Amino acid sequence: MLAGKKGLVLGVANKRSLAFACARACAERGAEVALTCQNERFEQGARDLAATLPGASATAPVFRCDVTRDEDIASLTESIRSRWERVDFLVHSIAFANPEELKGRFRDTSRPGFSQALDISCYSLVAVARAVAPLMPSGGSVVTLSYLGGERVVPNYNVMGVAKAALDCAVRYLAYDLGPSGIRVNSVLPGPIRTLSASGVGDFSKMLDHVEQVSPMRRNVAADEVGDVVAFLASDMARGVTGAMIHVDAGYSVMGVAIGAPKDEETKGGVAS
Ligand code: NAD
Repeated sequence: MLAGKKGLVLGVANKRSLAFACARACAERGAEVALTCQNERFEQGARDLAATLPGASATAPVFRCDVTRDEDIASLTESIRSRWERVDFLVHSIAFANPEELKGRFRDTSRPGFSQALDISCYSLVAVARAVAPLMPSGGSVVTLSYLGGERVVPNYNVMGVAKAALDCAVRYLAYDLGPSGIRVNSVLPGPIRTLSASGVGDFSKMLDHVEQVSPMRRNVAADEVGDVVAFLASDMARGVTGAMIHVDAGYSVMGVAIGAPKDEETKGGVAS
């Protein structure tokens, strides 16, 4: 599905990172990937993870890129340009808000906390897409990871919800900007999955329990399920899709009133015959 394609995957912190699941899913479909991590703290771990990838990706380069630094984005682009003649897809799997902002009342969000969350979690997509687009002369695919908290209220998600709403909107504007160049821009919205970032969200375990109880599939999703959808969007199979938001959440987002399993399911289990 991705044989012969080259992709840059941003945001590997550790083995639980959705970025790594996306890199692995793409590499398993034949893509050659390059990874980024935020800083030195994550670099050796990202290199060790890269070595576990299949095919040409086993020697995947790992670049440091702090997306708040324009010079890091410029040097990342130069490093890629000197190594590859083109980039076919870009996966943006980066977000941050100060954990203090991810509990308590949204109205208490600080001005610096708001700016930081929006800068790292939304503006970075715009900056990176702009930098990488020239490396996609015959078109390409940009995929970012968003979350339902940008569309609905998720308690404690607070300023990250606002950042995700902005990210979703940026996806649509980028899709319009880059569409004439054959570059598609889409987002994947996973349900809650235990990762380093997720550990900063207040009551995260309660969210996992709730999704398991009330989602149509009565379970949470796994990182590889997210990676597979990202690989699809990166591939030519999704060549007619841009500006889209795809939920990978066991159906949770279709629920209106989420009151839990019907009584007969609790007692009998399984599907009624
Ligand atoms: P993660 O902590 O593994 O990944 C987040 C990454 O963002 C890390 O690699 C971190 O180093 C990076 N980052 C933060 N600030 C940065 C900066 N200034 N410059 C460069 N990189 C920076 O957690 P994750 O859950 O894999 O998160 C990846 C994406 O998935 C995020 O956009 C997150 O919002 C999204 N997402 C996660 C979940 C979930 O439940 N885990 C659900 C929906 C969406």
